Amino acid sequence: MTKKVIYLDNNATTKVCDEAINAMLPFLGERYGNPSSMHTFGGEIGAYVKKSREQTAALMGAADPQEVVFTSCGTESSNMAFRGLTDPRKRHIITTKVEHPCVLNVARHLEKNHDYEVTYLGVDTEGQLDLDEFKDSIRPDTALISVMWANNETGVILPVEQLAEIAKEKNPDILFFTDAVQAAGKIPINIKGTKIDMVSISGHKIHAPKGVGAIYVRKGSLLSPFMLGGHQERGQRGGTENVAGIVALGMASEQALSYLEDEATRVKQMRDRLERGILEKCFNARVNGSRIKRVPNTTNISFEYIEGELILLHLSDLGICASSGSACTSGNLEPSHVLRAMGIPFTAVHGSIRFSLSRYTAEDEIDYVIEKMPEVIEKLNSISPFQTELRELKEIKTAMKS
Ligand code: PLP
Repeated sequence: MTKKVIYLDNNATTKVCDEAINAMLPFLGERYGNPSSMHTFGGEIGAYVKKSREQTAALMGAADPQEVVFTSCGTESSNMAFRGLTDPRKRHIITTKVEHPCVLNVARHLEKNHDYEVTYLGVDTEGQLDLDEFKDSIRPDTALISVMWANNETGVILPVEQLAEIAKEKNPDILFFTDAVQAAGKIPINIKGTKIDMVSISGHKIHAPKGVGAIYVRKGSLLSPFMLGGHQERGQRGGTENVAGIVALGMASEQALSYLEDEATRVKQMRDRLERGILEKCFNARVNGSRIKRVPNTTNISFEYIEGELILLHLSDLGICASSGSACTSGNLEPSHVLRAMGIPFTAVHGSIRFSLSRYTAEDEIDYVIEKMPEVIEKLNSISPFQTELRELKEIKTAMKS
């Protein structure tokens, strides 16, 4: 009998929703035409790509679907925003220390190989930027500002609408990009009323398949294409369209929009119940980052003085899927750059676990994790080399409770 899987790793990837599967299937079968073809068999496929563009634009709150460009993933969308910069005189970029590697690594690449100067802004223990420091970092030669909408490890939401306002007031020519891969489908996004120029999303984080993503590019933004090829996506991204993936992304976007209320209520309540249950029963547990400015599905909990990887292995034996740090960097035992930037003590960074829920998470799964977690943590506490520190921490927590 296969063990039941309790999947609490939805920031790594999500289950593809039935609606997206059903929508995409014809395009893997009988509707295999190329939307660029002159004949009707291919040409009529374009109507489905158009519909998907409208659905995806609606999720982003974009004024015009033509501002949406389909890509292969969130990483490609970020690369497009950075590598598409055109003005040779503007060689300064501002980003943060807590971005996903798809932003940090392309920023480092431009710094190392293309004479850009990059300012990496720090964050406080809540995961928030200092607004004065942000404002002061903007220069006349700043070409691009890239600040993520929601952090993948902690779920912390950054005030990107406000940051874009500040940036444009100081320097109207700046391009403002936000990686909204972890915000889309979790909190409302409404680009049209903002000064944000570019927004990335990824299909596999919102119950569409892997291999499809999108970037919103505000009309009039000076961005040169990064993928050169055919005229697809109005010349902004060459390559024959991944029609099945695009259609699935459109449907998943429509579904995500209709489930926003559910995320904000039911999913959030389950996340909060999980968090409370763990904090009550595990004395060495602490939540990392703001508990208020956070997407509703994510909690990042550190278990002080024990190893996150060991916790994950024990949870995995129980059929519980969670993650330590970012899934994209696991396999690499470097402690999380996000938690380190937040100044979380080393002994807590190493024992951090991210639980990320979705609309498919069930109440009884949360019950099960709340029941099993204290047993796992007690077992690992008993073999930790930090017995004195654990004893002292337990005494402090007990004294605080009484
Ligand atoms: N940005 C954030 C915040 C992410 O969490 C991820 C993936 O984990 C990405 C970008 C990369 O997206 P993709 O896997 O579609 O390339």
